Amino acid sequence: LNSKLPHVGPTIFSVMTQLANEHNAINLSQGFPDFQCPPSLIERVRFYMERGDNQYAPMAGLPILQQQIAVKVDNLYHLKLNAAEEVTITSGATEALFCAIQTVIQPGDEVIVFDPSYDSYEPAIILAGGKAVHLPLITPDYHIDWEVVRQSINPRTRLIIINSPHNPTGAVLTEEDMLQLSEIVNKNDLFLLSDEVYEHIIFDQQSHQSVLKYPDLYQRCFVVFSFGKTYHVTGWKVGYCIAPPMLTSEFRKVHQFVTFDTATPLQYGLADFMKSDPQHYLDLPHFYQQKRDLFCRLLSKSKFTLLPSKGTYFQLLEYSGISGLNDVDYAKTLTVDAGIAAIPISVFAKQPIKEKYLRFCFAKDDATLTKAAAILTLL
Ligand code: PMP
Ligand code: GLN
Repeated sequence: LNSKLPHVGPTIFSVMTQLANEHNAINLSQGFPDFQCPPSLIERVRFYMERGDNQYAPMAGLPILQQQIAVKVDNLYHLKLNAAEEVTITSGATEALFCAIQTVIQPGDEVIVFDPSYDSYEPAIILAGGKAVHLPLITPDYHIDWEVVRQSINPRTRLIIINSPHNPTGAVLTEEDMLQLSEIVNKNDLFLLSDEVYEHIIFDQQSHQSVLKYPDLYQRCFVVFSFGKTYHVTGWKVGYCIAPPMLTSEFRKVHQFVTFDTATPLQYGLADFMKSDPQHYLDLPHFYQQKRDLFCRLLSKSKFTLLPSKGTYFQLLEYSGISGLNDVDYAKTLTVDAGIAAIPISVFAKQPIKEKYLRFCFAKDDATLTKAAAILTLL
């Protein structure tokens, strides 16, 4: 077989989680909570399963869930959506990202991605026949150099992918970034894909700069979200894509032949829960900020250097005071010898990353974080 993805192996998330399981390590690598989702969410899903709502959902999603999302978007970002024409429920954000990329990319098109970048973007670009143009985020705060973006645009450039709050660095885009982006995207007639799966996991009173707050920008954009992150149910794989009607109608042509639809009882349960408990996501910044602060406080006497995490449930730790290994080797050693699994961030970048950073997930019970930090402090 002539591989369509010759340079792709199992993702770092599969590799590190498997290694963590083999060595009984505390798994702070793959991003998922080790605590339960709200019990009433499970009760609602069970209610609909027992009621018999176990057959196909409409291709674009259950209307009541689309509607709840439109209400939320209006409340948070003051944008009035036509739920039926602009909201599509997908099987995780991953599916939404994949479909959006297939929708706009033709063979030979270029897509600007910012490194380190989430690992699903580039394979989806390659499968569409496109080419990823990797631009490095600028350290130490991982900001975008908009001049470099301007210089990288050529007639083949078709799409820019942004992700804020940013996995794996925890950086967030500012209002100034959004204005620069608007100017570039409009002037060059580009499309935008905005990965906003961590919209509610943002700290220190910052407000999330959703594309949905910028009507001009939204006209050219697919905006992607994940219930997995917001409701602590990463294994349910339910997400959604918001895009203007013209883009949504093309997006759905792809989506209907990738998965067609998404688990019906999960959609009913999520719609009920969104309606009855909007406070849940309003509390998330505080909920996760406490975890970030606890983890960082517990590590203050360790030999790791803590980098700022402005959003997401990830914390970068610099380990040059402990080991001279590269990040992939050190992540493996840390898992096998110390029993703590983390993610090396060089795998998310095209250019070599000289910094010695590992990404640790703090979406864990306080007891897990305490145990992990005690081990890390002894190194
Ligand atoms: N984008 C980013 C930046 C992510 O971190 C993740 C999940 N870890 C996804 C997309 C995929 O989300 P989902 O699990 O809903 O497919
Ligand atoms: N997005 C999750 C992370 O960054 C993992 C998703 C996956 O396992 N593919 O850890």
